[in-house]
Amino acid sequence: MYSFARRPKEALKEAREIIAGCIGASPEEIYFTSGGTESDNWAIKGTAFSGRERGRTVTSAFEHHAILSSCRAIEKLGYPVLYLPPDDDGIISADCLENFITKDTRTVSVMYANNEIGTIQPIGKLAEIAHRNGALFHTDAVQAVGHVEVDVKKLSVDMLSASAHKFNGPKGVGFLYLRKGTDICPYVDGGAQEGKYRASTENIAGIVGMAVALKRSCEEIEVRKAHLQHLEYILLDRLNQYGFDYRRNGKGEHIPGNLSLSFKNADGEALLHRLDLMGVSVSTGSACNSKSTELSHVLTAIHLPLEYAYGTIRVSLGYENTEEEVVYIADCIRKILAPKLMKRS
Ligand code: PLP
Repeated sequence: MYSFARRPKEALKEAREIIAGCIGASPEEIYFTSGGTESDNWAIKGTAFSGRERGRTVTSAFEHHAILSSCRAIEKLGYPVLYLPPDDDGIISADCLENFITKDTRTVSVMYANNEIGTIQPIGKLAEIAHRNGALFHTDAVQAVGHVEVDVKKLSVDMLSASAHKFNGPKGVGFLYLRKGTDICPYVDGGAQEGKYRASTENIAGIVGMAVALKRSCEEIEVRKAHLQHLEYILLDRLNQYGFDYRRNGKGEHIPGNLSLSFKNADGEALLHRLDLMGVSVSTGSACNSKSTELSHVLTAIHLPLEYAYGTIRVSLGYENTEEEVVYIADCIRKILAPKLMKRS
């Protein structure tokens, strides 16, 4: 109640208003968390535990592990979970959910955009099917918020997860949108913060940083999108000119700047390390340990042929990347892979 505490209180209020405004929500529907993982855990566990019966959770087989591991955790406690298969283009179709949803479904959770292959899901249609069947709908929008227009009211979702570091905000902070009246248990018990739903002293600096970053990203969405799509075009065009046998994974609309590329008969892990030595940081679609190379659950779920799957890298371009940089990436890939390809022919 003392005067100098008013400033952080005001900052918190303003940040909540800014974030709500960016996604079409009301300020009291925004709950601050420590990031996407916590928001996802809360949505899955909080709605499972608040149901009167042990209702089913329906999710997809290619979610982020924040969702998949939360689902495994509730399964261990006796809550049934069903995993929808994406099609080979990386989409969970409305027909797929329509075929699998059951009347005892408590929550449907499908990610807005896949983090490995960038495909955008038909969230509005999926939410409508969930509601028609009496279920709640959650979307993990960690890859989408700040990158494409997201409006919770237009989409008609009950819950939505977001994470600040994905839109150039600070690490270790995020939020969960909870539609007013959504039946969910508190995630952290303790003090009265976040309407008693998520106790613990708020990370004011992180929350303010998140609000500023989201506001900037949303104001520039169209400009950044056009720039990133142009960079994607340049990169793919170069790779085509060089005659590589490769696939861009996922069809339809993608998150701008997310390119999952699979080079036939290449070694994605080796490509990652060679690119790193050349100053280019990418991820791969497989994880190596000393005994085996394991393909990611996403590439497995979309049935990518093995001769392509093991040669997968993910290039995540940001709005500060330039045309020269993507040309450099393509040239580096050529330097690394071309001799190998020549040897084979
Ligand atoms: N969900 C998706 C789709 C993600 O891409 C990520 C992070 O990469 C997360 C959840 C986890 O977010 P955080 O790192 O903020 O916990």
